[in-house]
Amino acid sequence: MKIALIAHDAKKPEIVRIATAYEEILRQHELYATGHTGQVIHDATGLQIHQFNSGPLGGDQQVGALISENQMDLVIFLRDPLTAQPHEPDVNALLRLADVYDVPIATNAGTAEVLLRGLQAGFLDFRNLLRGKEDKHA
Ligand code: PGA
Repeated sequence: MKIALIAHDAKKPEIVRIATAYEEILRQHELYATGHTGQVIHDATGLQIHQFNSGPLGGDQQVGALISENQMDLVIFLRDPLTAQPHEPDVNALLRLADVYDVPIATNAGTAEVLLRGLQAGFLDFRNLLRGKEDKHA
């Protein structure tokens, strides 16, 4: 599975906590992240992560591009709901594409944990979810 990890600055400690707690399950998958998020997670856990540009410099759009190519299976995107982001249009575009392609996306730590625990327990049939996306390219 291909998993993208993104966290706004105020949420970086939270994504590090989550990545540390679920390191074993994350290690079994192909990880992607926006620039700084990928760096802090790698520094804290040693996980191998493909780092895109920083979010404000196009990283969110790079994740969105993979979603539109059916190349992303799960997104954890810890947004900061209390701070205006200069790249808000990119954030909205990413959320929209996740909805277009039915990609599970967690925008807060609570949902992120539910998804990761589901993944850990093996009861989230993402392959099945992905099947519905084939038509979107028709
Ligand atoms: P960053 O980008 O991981 O490079 O900080 C995250 C974002 O703001 O979308």
